[in-house]
Amino acid sequence: MEALDHFTIPVSGLSDGLHEYDFSIGKDFFQQFEGSLIEDADVTVHFSFDKRTDLYVLTFEIEGEVKATCDRCLEDFNLPVEDEQSLLVKFDETEWEDADVIYILQGTQSLNVARYIYEFINLAVPITKTHDDAGESCDPEMLKFIEQEKDESQDDSSSIWDSLKGLNLEN
Ligand SMILES: [Zn+2]
Repeated sequence: MEALDHFTIPVSGLSDGLHEYDFSIGKDFFQQFEGSLIEDADVTVHFSFDKRTDLYVLTFEIEGEVKATCDRCLEDFNLPVEDEQSLLVKFDETEWEDADVIYILQGTQSLNVARYIYEFINLAVPITKTHDDAGESCDPEMLKFIEQEKDESQDDSSSIWDSLKGLNLEN
């Protein structure tokens, strides 16, 4: 995943203290993740890497917009997202991680943070999202259309049911 190379932090070579990075996250980023629910976005991630003697503190400040589909009118809109998440990195004899701590081997040269950025942007997107979240209104024409479709599909299912009943009677 060369496209994600610039998310690699050369952790062992950096001096102790705070190191800050700004990442612009867009369409290209999400294309690197197979099956991504987010296709397009315009998000900035202010990433802080705090190197301490026996642990690292990673902070991700996420701000921007994600292209989402409105759950009410089914039209695309730009959903504002804003979140701040932290992770701790500690050292162990094997690599593993739990919810808030990543364990890496002592002497690990670099750490790629793309996957964490991906996960945190996804976490910042609510399960239900509508134009309301962007302070916008749904298209009234579209809502009317969806209502009509719903009524029609209910009619369809009852007519299928009726014809099935008809078949049973013939047998
Ligand atoms: Zn809507």
